[in-house]
Amino acid sequence: MAYYNANTILWLDGEFKKASEAVTDLYGQSLHYGYAVFEGIRAYRTDSGETKIFKATEHYDRLRRSAQAMNMPYDHDTSELIRITYEVLEKNNLQDAYIRPLVYAPANMSFNRNTESHTTIQVWEMAPFLGDKLLRVMTSSFQRPNPKGFKIEAKASGHYVNSILASQEAKANGYDEALLTDMNGNVAEGPGANVFFEKAGKLFTPSTGNILPGITRATVLEICGELDIPVEEKTFTTAELAGADAAFFCGTAAEVIGWESLDGRPFTLPWKESLSRKIQQAYKDKVVEKQHQLETV
Ligand code: PMP
Repeated sequence: MAYYNANTILWLDGEFKKASEAVTDLYGQSLHYGYAVFEGIRAYRTDSGETKIFKATEHYDRLRRSAQAMNMPYDHDTSELIRITYEVLEKNNLQDAYIRPLVYAPANMSFNRNTESHTTIQVWEMAPFLGDKLLRVMTSSFQRPNPKGFKIEAKASGHYVNSILASQEAKANGYDEALLTDMNGNVAEGPGANVFFEKAGKLFTPSTGNILPGITRATVLEICGELDIPVEEKTFTTAELAGADAAFFCGTAAEVIGWESLDGRPFTLPWKESLSRKIQQAYKDKVVEKQHQLETV
């Protein structure tokens, strides 16, 4: 996929630049050691035709927390970065887009702290999906990193080596995506998304501690409250998940996407009849700020 062309503009350390002309240092600590933090954000063309970055504050606040967790210098203001992001979108003529801010380290082959960081904001086109395609998911042989070895709640680049291994393994085995367990063998999350399952009219999702606490996960919890759907955060096994009525992944890029099967075993409740499907629809409406028709008397 082409992320940029000759006209693409990105933002780098305070300046708007052509993506094709921006450069980075091959001696960077981030490139060599995966020592960087990033965000995955989306903008949507709303029902009223405006461009709206979904949960912009939550994402840029998490970027700051991730940088701080990694001891990386970070002196950005969330509202300033949001303003800049809207400008990057406009300069690239994009409304439905994926937004990738990245904070990375300068040239440094040691493990020492840096006195400065670089920050870039890149955008590319991404149309909303939220379709009825269902995923065939495989339980990965890879587990999520031990939270005592990594700051698992930070969105750090190096953590994604684990995601890449798991996702590539699932695809090599003919599946659409991987499900990773935590170091104790309980369900954790996907390579780039959180997981929920539905059983007897109730939703369940892994508690925090071994997962990236997703902003979409928080949005799904919010939707459950709005729709009066009972939901519980708890620890559970893949066997419990496999016996569920329905299941889905949720994340900024994945949005809310249902599962067809886990390890070849299909979920029994038709997706269209599930509460999960209702949540998927509510998420779709939320991101484009769909105004529900006022009831008329
Ligand atoms: N878990 C992992 C490992 C992720 O990479 C992501 C994507 N950022 C998520 C969960 C979902 O997070 P969010 O809803 O904030 O995109």
